[in-house]
Amino acid sequence: MAKRDYYETLGVPKNASDEEIKKSYRKLAMKYHPDRNQGDSAKAAEEKFKDAKEAYEMLSDPQKRAAYDQYGHAGVDPNMRGPGGPGAEGFGGFAEAFGDIFGDMFGQQRGRGGRQVYRGGDLSYAMEITLEEAARGKDAQIRIPSWENCDTCHGTGAKPGTQVKTCGTCNGSGSVQMRQGFFSVQQTCPTCRGNGKVIPEPCTACHGQGKLKKQKTLEVKIPAGIDGGMRIRSTGNGEPGTNGGPAGDLYIEIRLKKHEIFERDGDDLHCSVPISMITAALGGEIDVPTLSGKAAIDIPEGTQTGKQFRLRGKGIKGVRSSYPGDLYCHILVETPVKLSEHQRKLLRELEDSLKKGGGKHSPTGDSWTDRLKSFFS
Ligand SMILES: [Zn+2]
Ligand SMILES: [Zn+2]
Repeated sequence: MAKRDYYETLGVPKNASDEEIKKSYRKLAMKYHPDRNQGDSAKAAEEKFKDAKEAYEMLSDPQKRAAYDQYGHAGVDPNMRGPGGPGAEGFGGFAEAFGDIFGDMFGQQRGRGGRQVYRGGDLSYAMEITLEEAARGKDAQIRIPSWENCDTCHGTGAKPGTQVKTCGTCNGSGSVQMRQGFFSVQQTCPTCRGNGKVIPEPCTACHGQGKLKKQKTLEVKIPAGIDGGMRIRSTGNGEPGTNGGPAGDLYIEIRLKKHEIFERDGDDLHCSVPISMITAALGGEIDVPTLSGKAAIDIPEGTQTGKQFRLRGKGIKGVRSSYPGDLYCHILVETPVKLSEHQRKLLRELEDSLKKGGGKHSPTGDSWTDRLKSFFS
């Protein structure tokens, strides 16, 4: 078959200006764009579209146009443009070829048949775990919503015995052209909301959605060291996409249950350790809890409230940490309560004895007295 003249294809004279060529091409591209040509006319429109595109590519390039003017089709062989050539181009070629002229107009993501494709929404799921679970990691099972094809209508959304119809507003393309002055803007069809189809009698089981929300069990691996506020992403387990678009993601948000003993600060743990007044004064070994069992601390003689003991490596190894954090034990010296008469007497005797030693039994007493003096003077 003889190739049509490029000027003829675009419907412009041989001496047409670049502007005229561009304008004519734009018009043809609109007319034959696959988004506007569905069904029987699609194949012929696609051919015309490609011809116009080829002609434009040649005539918009001054060098190629000069070669074409001089030698005709022999001067410019479009089949030399890399593998495939124009005949082998898939759908992507259209948007690619027209991107420079139409900008974003055709830049939207489109599915088969040119309908607008939407990614499904993300879902989030809050999971409360214990500190121990966070430290060790855990395999959890969660129940999440899932969408399954409706059994009643087999996913069509139409009441059994009725048919899904092509949308009359957009002829099934899912989008409509809105003219605004010189511009023609493509918009999602308001009648079918981009679906390209309408359901005159929706299925009652799924209300025309074609799918039903159910539940499914998902296995989730909670990595060791995870902290409250972190999120785990489960790709593709969110809401389903529209018109074949990809599903959204599921985010599992981790919350830590309050622990009876430990408070977590990043990879470190903190805990309060009460000791008796006697142990504080005389010193001694005490047991402290850690996430991996008991540990012993040597309390030195004369330990005060607020003293911290650090147990290296007894914290939590964070998700991205190379080493575990530390455990800080905060000492709390307890004042004895509910004393018997005898015990009171012993304490008074002790007090008398301490007074005889002057200030030497009170490690902060001297500086405290000094500070009071300067405060009141
Ligand atoms: Zn249904
Ligand atoms: Zn429509």
